[in-house]
Amino acid sequence: MEVHIQLTKLRTKLFCSCNSDYRDAEPNTHLCPICIGLPGTLPVINNKAIEFATKIALGLNCQINEVMYFFRKNYFYPDLPKGFQISQYNKAGGKAFADGGKVTIRLNSNKKDILLDRIHLEEDPARLVHKGSIRTSPYTLVDYNRSGIALIEIVTEPVLSSPAEAREFLNQLKLIVQYTGISDLSLEGSLRVDANISIKGHPRAEVKNINSFKEVESALIYEIMRQKNEIKKGKEIIQETRHWDGRVTIPLRTKEFEKDYRYFPEQDLVPIIITKKNIDEIRESLPEMPYERVSRLQHQYMLSEFDAENLILDKDIADFYENGVNSDPTFGPNEFKLYCNWLMNDIVGWLNENNSKIIDTKLKPHYIVDLILNIKKGTITTKMAKTMINDMMKGKTISKILEDKDKKRISNEFILEKYCKEAIEENPNIIKDFEKNPKAFEALIGRVMAKTKGQADPKITRKILRNLLH
Ligand code: ZN
Ligand code: MN
Repeated sequence: MEVHIQLTKLRTKLFCSCNSDYRDAEPNTHLCPICIGLPGTLPVINNKAIEFATKIALGLNCQINEVMYFFRKNYFYPDLPKGFQISQYNKAGGKAFADGGKVTIRLNSNKKDILLDRIHLEEDPARLVHKGSIRTSPYTLVDYNRSGIALIEIVTEPVLSSPAEAREFLNQLKLIVQYTGISDLSLEGSLRVDANISIKGHPRAEVKNINSFKEVESALIYEIMRQKNEIKKGKEIIQETRHWDGRVTIPLRTKEFEKDYRYFPEQDLVPIIITKKNIDEIRESLPEMPYERVSRLQHQYMLSEFDAENLILDKDIADFYENGVNSDPTFGPNEFKLYCNWLMNDIVGWLNENNSKIIDTKLKPHYIVDLILNIKKGTITTKMAKTMINDMMKGKTISKILEDKDKKRISNEFILEKYCKEAIEENPNIIKDFEKNPKAFEALIGRVMAKTKGQADPKITRKILRNLLH
């Protein structure tokens, strides 16, 4: 698998100072003589891109090469105005940005290391726009705004053995990218995957430019089935480049071989030298990686591996969790677990339902602390808390919700007694259970609450019920 990731957190392109934030721009407005490859122009490396590449190399546990040149990868295609792409090459005296590395995935409780071959820096080609489908479009439009955007390419060893593994690999990779802060992969086109697929003993086909995780899995499932069918029919697989159109893969061109690219050093750029000191400084500045965070969360908050792995799946959620549980010094292992449950079940459930991110809501980390404490004090039941999640997400603490309710609260003992008597009469089963089961009493309070739409004063209700039952 070859994964191209745009360094979207860079302000400028890889070799010129054009603004890299091109997504809402008019076509062909973010360009200059360098990124449209006019003769006589000279590229200059973006120093921040080297820093970002170092970050992701460290996050993936790669071995960074300390001296490297850029190479020209020659091919003639309308998205490349120069006729070559400035990239890196790990042969002919060239070095990738970094070698090796790994991403650990978990599938059905089995762990597997997906080994990386290398990662390298290169420039993004221009964007080609087709009218309708790529096959039937009568023309191709070229938008050079994307030309020269910094890409990091991550190449795995041929170790992925199923579409599900590929999907999990991408999930984990995305997470590491999010933690390093080099790119926002929710942006359209910021991640593009080329997948090389082969049935053992046969040549491979490459499906190019698949741009979402779901599509990668579907494309792989389709392509594996296609190749198996070809082989069954006695046909040979052709080594070629194919395009995924959302339903099927179609042949684009017979695959170029490496020699067709005529790689040679890019003499317009000086060698890049990264010292051990540079690397150490960047390592210092690097936040904790997701896999490191899992084991820390387990130890620091006594969470299960399952809970810790779930929390780190989104950095914002994990940050929120830690801010929350640390905001109350009385919290211990019991509350750490409760907080995790509320966050991962009710809050994340609400976020999914409303298609929103936690940072875009008005929920604050201490709101869940407030919720847990209110349940502990007995001012609300777990059931009631669940009905208050929606108001919480809109910026109200449970305490505030209760305060507002207080104004409507029924504390008149005469009226409450009437409700309590009704509840007892209507629920003989609960009463029967009352002597043996302490939960029965809570259930009865729940019935009174339901009757009064949550407006009964819980303390007075408790007192009345107790008197009535003894
Ligand atoms: Zn430019
Ligand atoms: Mn590439």
